[in-house]
Amino acid sequence: MIGNWKMHGSHLEAIQRVQKLSYLLDPADYDRVEVGVAPPFTSLRSVQTVVQMDDLRIRIAAQNLHWQDRGAYTGEISASMLAKLSVSYAIVGHSERRQCFGEDNRVVNRKAKAAMRAGVTPIVAVGETLEQRERGEATAVIRGQVSGSLARIPTEAIQDLVIAYEPVWAIGTGRHAAPADAQEAIAGIREQIRGRHGSAADRVRILYGGSMNPGNVAALMAKLDIDGGLIGGASLDPDAFAACVRYWK
Ligand code: PEP
Repeated sequence: MIGNWKMHGSHLEAIQRVQKLSYLLDPADYDRVEVGVAPPFTSLRSVQTVVQMDDLRIRIAAQNLHWQDRGAYTGEISASMLAKLSVSYAIVGHSERRQCFGEDNRVVNRKAKAAMRAGVTPIVAVGETLEQRERGEATAVIRGQVSGSLARIPTEAIQDLVIAYEPVWAIGTGRHAAPADAQEAIAGIREQIRGRHGSAADRVRILYGGSMNPGNVAALMAKLDIDGGLIGGASLDPDAFAACVRYWK
C-alpha cells in the first residue's frame, strides 16, 4: 500500500503524518503488507530522518524523477539523488503528470529505466480517461501505455517492477472502479506482460488506484490480480491510510 501525498503539506506536516502512521501500525501489519509513502520532494529528507531514527518499516517513495542522472536540468531531481535519500520507489507516469505536464509513454519509459539504473523501483501508472472508456478504448489505451512505458526493459528487471492501474476517472473523484472491472483490467495487464516476459508476469505487483479508501479496500483487495493500492486522498489521513493497510481486519 502506497500513499501518494501529492502536493500536500509541508515537511513538518509530513513528519507528523508519518509518526502518526507508525503509531497506528504494528509489526504484524508490516509482516503482511509492504507500506510506503510518497511525500513531496521537500519532505523526503524529513520523512527519511524519521524512518531511520525510529527504525520504521515504512518505505519511502518519490512522486517523480528526471531520466538524466545529472546536468543542466533546472528544477529536476535525479534517480541517484533519490537513492541517496533511501528512496525505494518512484511513481512514474501518474495521470496528473501525463495530463498536466504532457508526459507521454516515451518519457515514462525513460524515467522507469533511470529509476531502475539507480536501484529505485518504478511504480508505473497507467489508466484510461472517462472519454476513452466511454468510447470503448480502455483496453487499447492501457495496452499502449503498458507496452510504451515498459519498452526495452528486460525480463529480469520486469519482475521487480510495480504497475499501478489507475483509471483517470476514479482518481480524486470518490468514484472507485467496480472491483470486477479493476480485476479485469489488471488481469489484462498481467496477461500482456506474460505474452512478452512469460512467468515474470506473476511476480510483477500490480496495484489498483482511484478513490481507494477504508470502505472499499477489502472488496478490491479480494480480487485475484490486485496486489495492492496506490492511495491518494485517503493516505493524507493516517487513520484512513492505516485502515487501508489493515484491509483484512
Ligand atoms: C492517486 O493519486 O494515485 C490516487 C489514486 O488518488 P485518490 O486515491 O485520491 O483517487
